[in-house]
Amino acid sequence: MEQQLQDFRCTTCNKLLFKGLLACSVIEIKCKGCKQINNFSDPSGNSGCGENCPCNKK
Ligand SMILES: [Zn+2]
Repeated sequence: MEQQLQDFRCTTCNKLLFKGLLACSVIEIKCKGCKQINNFSDPSGNSGCGENCPCNKK
């Protein structure tokens, strides 16, 4: 099973912070380069988010 990992880059200095998939998740990560704290959330809103996802069971 192949999954396309997405690049997440610092919004300030564009340094690559990590690669991954965010499915209804929110990540906060501090850039090691410029110390900027970046927040990322699932950009598509439903990537990898299926019937079994807890966010669908509100
Ligand atoms: Zn940075």
